[in-house]
Amino acid sequence: MEECPFCGIASKKVPSLIVYEDNNFMAILDIRPANKGHTILFPKKHKTSIFDLSNNETNKIFHIAKELIKNIKVVTKCSGVNLVYSIGEAAGQRVPHMILHLIPRNKGDKVAITWEPQKISEEEFKKIAEELLKANKSISEQVIEEKKEKIITEEELKKIKPAEIIELEPREPKYW
Ligand SMILES: [Zn+2]
Repeated sequence: MEECPFCGIASKKVPSLIVYEDNNFMAILDIRPANKGHTILFPKKHKTSIFDLSNNETNKIFHIAKELIKNIKVVTKCSGVNLVYSIGEAAGQRVPHMILHLIPRNKGDKVAITWEPQKISEEEFKKIAEELLKANKSISEQVIEEKKEKIITEEELKKIKPAEIIELEPREPKYW
């Protein structure tokens, strides 16, 4: 089996510029950065994707990401940060290890994260929304939250016209 590059980095067999480390997670500078301060955060144990993390580990990695982003903003003086996480080859996952990219952003930089907005009929919009809402029903029960947050009901969803959603939130790739 081919050696996983991030397992090599985690075990320090492969040298890297470490910017954060604890018992379970590590963050390094990307050697091919999109911008100065481009950081990669990953679990030290080999995990293919977020689906291999426990809920506790998931909380921890996003907690750490949040803190790293705060410091990236202070240190690099960037005006924004993209948190990029790709699951699967089709989405651009190029290594077999789960990694989060923390990319400092500035107006007019050379980073492009973009897509062509697709035309979807009102019917298709409603269908996919209903299917997803149904599939997502059990999430709130799984997530350990002290406070119950307001969740959109199917009745409320039906009142929203997809055309209005499109109008309210135009997808301008350059702005996200
Ligand atoms: Zn690995």
